[in-house]
Amino acid sequence: MKRFVFVAILITSIASFILLRFDSQSEQGLLNAIFTKNTEKSTLVKSGTEEAQHASTEEAAEESTVDTKNTAANEEQVSQPNQSAAITGSFIICIDPGHQEKANLEQEPFAPGASQTKYKVTGGTTGVSTNKPEYVLNLEASQILKTILEKKGFQVIMTRTSHTVNLSNLERAEIANRAGADLFIRLHADGSENTSTKGFSILVPAKDSPYTKTIYDDSYQAANFVLAHISKEIPIHQGGIFQRSDMTGFNWSRVPVILPEIGFMSNPEEDQKLSDAKYLTNLMELMAAGIEEYALSKQR
Ligand SMILES: [Zn+2]
Repeated sequence: MKRFVFVAILITSIASFILLRFDSQSEQGLLNAIFTKNTEKSTLVKSGTEEAQHASTEEAAEESTVDTKNTAANEEQVSQPNQSAAITGSFIICIDPGHQEKANLEQEPFAPGASQTKYKVTGGTTGVSTNKPEYVLNLEASQILKTILEKKGFQVIMTRTSHTVNLSNLERAEIANRAGADLFIRLHADGSENTSTKGFSILVPAKDSPYTKTIYDDSYQAANFVLAHISKEIPIHQGGIFQRSDMTGFNWSRVPVILPEIGFMSNPEEDQKLSDAKYLTNLMELMAAGIEEYALSKQR
């Protein structure tokens, strides 16, 4: 009898040991699955950075910060189910704040397979009255736009979040491509020799360019939505939308792309306005409203 009790206890112990192991393994399996998913997500953003051959380690660190913020934005959507956010949550926007602290005047092919080359990235213009470099204004505006878009529920990826990067226009387009962006926004400000020239405009890829045929329609539509909102309050430069076939950042883009020129830094009055936080925020609100309308039209 004693022997029977001993065997029974032994069997029960072995059985619970096996059950316990199985349980912890399945929990581990679940953890592994979650971990793999997260890793995949950071790889997506990182791969864009790797594309930028000259990108500093600082830039790589910034990219991981951006990734964390994106996750935070996703969590916000879950806790705040508003209809608009639910629709736009899967919509990825890549913002490229134009230029950088130091121009890179090495050459790169201006389109896939083309022998014609252009500068990797130029210096941009400077505020005639503020003396602010364009790359500074472009990042200020981009960061405001990013915040507004994230509040609306969009996923936002930035090509740069500091001035000390070395990213060519080709590399910037590749970041948008690799992220699978639904819209690529190259944010710039204008300059002219004529100091009285002013107003907002948007550059889009050319309809008849062999490199941008497939992205022209969507790019033009996005530009139209943005212009419709901006023109309610901001003066528009000439017709407002200009097609360009000579831009590296357009020709290498495989996703719809627009280049808003948010105003002329060569016009003293407009230059001052663009450095006014209230004016710039309002301008970015209007731009975001146009982007939202475009996104909704695509998801209908
Ligand atoms: Zn520019």
